[in-house]
Formats: sequence, structure tokens, C-alpha cells
Amino acid sequence: MPIKQLTETIINQIAAGEVIERPASVVKELVENSIDAGATRIEVVTAGGGKNLIRITDNGSGIRSDELALAVARHCTSKLTNDVHDIRALGFRGEALPSIGSVSRLSLKSRTSDADSGFEISTHGGRQDGPRPTPMNGGTIAEVRDLFFATPARLKFMKTDRAEASAISDVVKRIAIAFPHIRFSLAGSDRTPIELAATGAGSSGMLERISQVLGKEFPENAIAIDAERDGVRLTGFAGIPAFNRGNSLHQFAYVNGRPVRDKQIWGAIRGAYADVIARDRHPVVVLFLNLDPALVDVNVHPAKADVRFRDPGLVRGLIVGAIREALGQSGIRAATSGAE
Ligand code: ADP
Ligand code: MG
Repeated sequence: MPIKQLTETIINQIAAGEVIERPASVVKELVENSIDAGATRIEVVTAGGGKNLIRITDNGSGIRSDELALAVARHCTSKLTNDVHDIRALGFRGEALPSIGSVSRLSLKSRTSDADSGFEISTHGGRQDGPRPTPMNGGTIAEVRDLFFATPARLKFMKTDRAEASAISDVVKRIAIAFPHIRFSLAGSDRTPIELAATGAGSSGMLERISQVLGKEFPENAIAIDAERDGVRLTGFAGIPAFNRGNSLHQFAYVNGRPVRDKQIWGAIRGAYADVIARDRHPVVVLFLNLDPALVDVNVHPAKADVRFRDPGLVRGLIVGAIREALGQSGIRAATSGAE
């Protein structure tokens, strides 16, 4: 066979294979875009477990009509100049929209504050249509229909609508904890509507948002954490050992506001509770790590769930120390016999 350059659509579909694993990954990417655009209201509507429909509406900055085509083009981003180590926005790869567009029917409608109408661009498995004027309020509406219709092999791996819908709720809740000033709503035929009202600022607002997500009993069963070492700040809440769970879905970690699922962080949490919780039980923990972006690489994983710290030992020590101190200070370590 002769050597040929892959087509743009194939290249995007390959990228989609890494970034867009399931409907919840689409929701994560689109919600992150809304947050990066400064939105204070984000509405998520899904149907058919997100396979039939995902619609995210925000009141963020919007995209100018002359930039809509760039937004859905590969490697085009407004968030990164030339330093991959100075990443403050949640997105930066310029891969999400073209990837989603290559495996679904994507419509992007947007209106900036200075425009007198909205504009819409759509892509169907790689083919593009627009931009054309469309009536709408300020902000952006991203609508994804028939996810993976262009890649039937991937479609076969989807779980039931119910399982996919629940993964979507988890993703939205996980992100929402880090952005309490944003009002989130989740609706559509997949679920009874969930509404997370915007909360006040500071740690009380943070705790209020966490209670909206984890339940009203969380504040009574958790201890605030606030520690710092060598420029790494750790805040959050450590659940008391008796308030434990059967799985680790109730552990939340954020690095510079970005939700992460990081083995080192999970390991540190396990270490901190090793003496006070049975091995098959899991504490409820919310941790926010804040550090100089130069001291952490968020570029490791295409979906950006893993991070690499310049000094992993420091981060582990900080987490273990702060949780043990919090539990110790409140006398809980001595008082508890561990899990039920
Ligand atoms: P990235 O987020 O990595 O930049 P995306 O493919 O997700 O890449 O988005 C491409 C660009 O489209 C973004 O950099 C941003 O300029 C624009 N964009 C996407 N979604 C929105 C939105 N909801 N509001 C405003 N701009 C958006
Ligand atoms: Mg993005």
C-alpha cells in the first residue's frame, strides 16, 4: 500500500478515541469550556444516557462568529499561547470540539455581548455547515446528537442509558464542587432534575456546595483542613472515619481547580486513614491542592485526569500529615474503632 496522509476526519476520530471515551467525557469537556468562558450558569440536558442528546447552555463570553469555524477546528485554542507549563484554564489542547464533531452531530451556537445576533456552526461526522445567524441570548449552546454514530465500534462499548446517565451526573457533581459560585442544573429525560444553586464565596460557600453534592450530613461528619508546605497549599475536608463508604467514589481531589483522579493522591488518603478505617471501607474526602502551575504537569493524560507533581513526596507528606492532624485534633482517632 502507498503511504498517504490521514484525512482530517480520521485524525480527529483517533483523537476522539482518547479524549471522548463515553458521553460523560463529552459533558466534562463542554462544561469545562463553559467554565473557561467565565459562565456563572451552566445547564446540562441529556437524553438516552447522553448517546442521543447532550446539550450544554452557558452564559459565558460566547464565541465571535468569525471564530466559530476555528473553535471546531483541530489544535485551535484561545487558552494557550506558547508555554505548555503555564496552564491556568481547564482546556488547552484545542481537541475537544473537533474530536466530538468527528464522532457525532455537533451544533455550536454562540453570541458574544457585542453581537446583535447569535451564530451557529454544525459538523456532521466531520462535514461542516455555517456559520449562519440564529436567534439566541448571550453565551453558548453546544448540542451533541447521536454520539459515536460515526464510530459504531465505540458505540458498542456503551453501558446502559442509566449507567451512562449516572456517570454524567458524577462528572458534573465532581466539577461543580470546585466552582461553587456557578449555578449548575442537570435535566432531560435521563433523570429527575438536579439544581445546584450558586453559593457564597470562601470556605463556607465551598462547604455549602459540597453539602449540595454529598448530602446535608457531610458538614457534621467532616473536619476542615488547611495546611501549607513549600508553596503547596492544601485545603478541604476530611470525613471522620465512622462516616465511611463502600467505594472511593466519594473522594474528590482538585489540583488548581481541576478535578483529578490521581493514584498518588488516592494512595496518600489511604495512608492517612490506614489505622482508623477498615481496609475495605473508604473515607469521604474533598481535597484542593493549589500550587504554582510550574510545579505540576497536567499534560500527562489526554483527558487530563492524571497529573505529575514535581515533588510527589512533598504532596503525599502534606496530605497524610494534614488529614492525620485534623483527625487527631478532634480526638477522633482515639475515639473511633473504625468502620462499621
Ligand atoms: P480548548 O478548550 O482546549 O481550547 P476546545 O476544542 O474545547 O479546546 O475549544 C476550542 C475553543 O473554542 C476554545 O479555546 C474557546 O475559545 C472556544 N470555546 C469552546 N467552548 C466555548 C464556550 N462554551 N464559550 C466560549 N468559548 C468556547
Ligand atoms: Mg475545551
